[in-house]
Amino acid sequence: MTRRLSPVELMTQLVSFPTVSRDSNLPLVDWVEAYLREHGIAAHRHYDETGQKAALFAHVGPKVAGGVVLSGHTDVVPVDGQAWSSDPFTVTEREGRYYGRGCADMKGFDALAIWALVEAQRRGVARPLQLALSYDEEVGCLGAPPMIAAMQGTVPRADLAIIGEPTTMQAVTGHKGGLGYNVHVRGYEVHSSLMHRGVNAIMAAAPLIDWANRMNAANRAMARTDLAAMFEPPWTTLHVGQIEGGTAHNITAADCRFGMDFRVVAGEDPEAWGARFLEEVARVEADMQAVRPETGIDATRRFTVPGLRPEEGGAAEALVRQVTGDNASHVVSYGTEAGQFQQAGYSAAICGPGDIAQAHQPDEFITVEQLKAGHRFMHDLVERLAAG
Ligand SMILES: [Zn+2]
Repeated sequence: MTRRLSPVELMTQLVSFPTVSRDSNLPLVDWVEAYLREHGIAAHRHYDETGQKAALFAHVGPKVAGGVVLSGHTDVVPVDGQAWSSDPFTVTEREGRYYGRGCADMKGFDALAIWALVEAQRRGVARPLQLALSYDEEVGCLGAPPMIAAMQGTVPRADLAIIGEPTTMQAVTGHKGGLGYNVHVRGYEVHSSLMHRGVNAIMAAAPLIDWANRMNAANRAMARTDLAAMFEPPWTTLHVGQIEGGTAHNITAADCRFGMDFRVVAGEDPEAWGARFLEEVARVEADMQAVRPETGIDATRRFTVPGLRPEEGGAAEALVRQVTGDNASHVVSYGTEAGQFQQAGYSAAICGPGDIAQAHQPDEFITVEQLKAGHRFMHDLVERLAAG
């Protein structure tokens, strides 16, 4: 049997695969699958429709329901345009930190989860442990729902899922839901001196973006529910992070494209926000078509991420608290796959090493101390599962 790798060695391997979301993750999946096989663990793949990406999941322990899932994503955000002090895909230790793309988000946790699975296999556990590694998380949590569906019937049903996004090993039990649209405003080009005969796609996009500004101000001014009050900020936010359009200053723009994203506090329905936005789109489109019927707006859903509701006496939270000793309540404002596990009927909590502040940054890092804390967590978790 091949040598067991330490969490740092595993992380170094995982980071060496440049699994940016737009590219294939299969070399990483091949490596993890082979490593697990060498340690007597059979893994299962679920491919996306392109066949270029796959989720990987595995089960260790008795073939019974009621286990624990350790869930992470294999993809990372790009490094394009970022100034790195060392190669982003080579883990480099400096001043008590491991630098590398994904060290915090979230190949450090993936490495720990793989370590725990092999440890559980070696030691033997009374309660099952499962590993679930997804793809396309960074582009809107697209990969987890088909992975979760594929797990049903392939491996025994687990009770609870720990999603290892970086929380500095605190138990996080709630996050906002989200949805996003790609919007393409199709205008009509004329010389700007005769702009009344054309439709300027940029100027048609403007009221939709201003609607987002007005909703943000209204949400901020609204009285808070207890559920919303846990979040930072404690209201639903609408955000336009990208826009492009137009070809010349004196031509009414034929095209304008922008993204509209919503982060919705628990207690509000993300789909209701989507519906309100599409009403605004329809209103603006009607104004455009009154001038040029061939114009229009295409708003296509880019992602939907269910929120994570704090569970009353949740099993995932209870287990994480027992292992970490952290009894405070924490929520975060970024979306994760935890809401998707919860939606599929699992008890779910987020707990992983590293700090979200380092995620997606140039010189992303995890501290040596955080990786060690994660290692202790996995060690204690496997002990508990061994005891049953
Ligand atoms: Zn992540």
